[in-house]
This record gives sequence, structure tokens and C-alpha cells, in this order.
Amino acid sequence: MKGIVMNLLAEMVESQLGMKEWNRVIESAGLDGVYTSSELYEDTELFGLVAIISERNGIPADDLVFAFGKFMLPGFIARYPYLLADVDGFLAFLESIDSVIHVEVKKLHPDATTPVFHHIRLSENELQLQYNSERRLCRLAEGLVAGAAEHYNAHYSLTHEPCMHRGGDHCGFLIKVEPSAKDLAHSATGAIDE
Ligand code: ZN
Repeated sequence: MKGIVMNLLAEMVESQLGMKEWNRVIESAGLDGVYTSSELYEDTELFGLVAIISERNGIPADDLVFAFGKFMLPGFIARYPYLLADVDGFLAFLESIDSVIHVEVKKLHPDATTPVFHHIRLSENELQLQYNSERRLCRLAEGLVAGAAEHYNAHYSLTHEPCMHRGGDHCGFLIKVEPSAKDLAHSATGAIDE
């Protein structure tokens, strides 16, 4: 896992649970807590920190990982705003993860391991995302989707089936965007005009 991810975890804990709590987490993990964003760290280090934060704060690890994904997204956007320059909207963002964002991440960090996100556009408002990663961090991916929705001010529903944690060989997300009040008003006007 790249150091940027560890830095964002530190940022989340410091901002939501306090600087003291992060220091205690690092201490109980027996780490120095110094992370360089471009360096590579063992995945087990991240998982170990998540387990400690979860136990110390009584937050289920699954919920913590989801919250981290959601927190991580604006952090990435703030650091690499140009990655999103040509991306127009929530579903377009999700479609660009494999073809644009991960390609750029690989240019910046050739040693980064990025998950595979296949996408199938089922309709204007529906997208099927297939997540595949040895890390099996589908809750993190769900959190990133939630963060992206917030960034683009989109409302959506998500069905997570199959899941690698429930016997699937990948995780599938069916994402349906709910039309905004503005879209509904627009189509209602359209209907009257016709
Ligand atoms: Zn899953």
C-alpha cells in the first residue's frame, strides 16, 4: 500500500478521533507512524492499524474501512485534481477509474497495485462495477463510491452481489442513480411541452 493511503488514514483518525488517538494507535502497533506518500508499505501494516483503531474505538472493521474509502476520495481529488478534469459526473467518474485514474496512478507510482474495476453501463442511470483485488477491500471500494457520489452530489442505491467474502470470485456492485429533483422537474416540463 502506498504511503499516501497511510497518510490519509492518519488524517482521518486525527480529524475524527483526535491526534492523541492516532498517536496511541501508532504506539500500540509498535510503529513510528512516519509515512512518505510515494513509498510502498506492507498491506499488513494498514490492516493491523485498522484492526487496532476498530478495537480501541468499538467501530466494526467493515464500517471503518467503508468510512476510510469515503474519506479517501476527496483526499485523492485534492492531491490529483487534474485526474478528474475531463470527468463529467458520478457514473462517468466510476467508469474512468480503470481507464484513466489507475493508468495515471501507475505513471506516478509504477509499483502501486491497483484493483481491477470493470464497468458495464446498463442504462443512463445504471452501472455494473466488477471489483477484483487480492486485498478483497470491497468495503473500501464501496466507501470510495459513496465519496464520489458526495463529490458529484449524486443520490444512488447500491447492490453488492456477488461478494468475494461470500464465495464469489469477484465483487459486483449494481449502482443505480436516482434522478435529482432538477432532472425530475425538467422531464415533467418536457412531458407537458410534448
Ligand atoms: Zn465484496
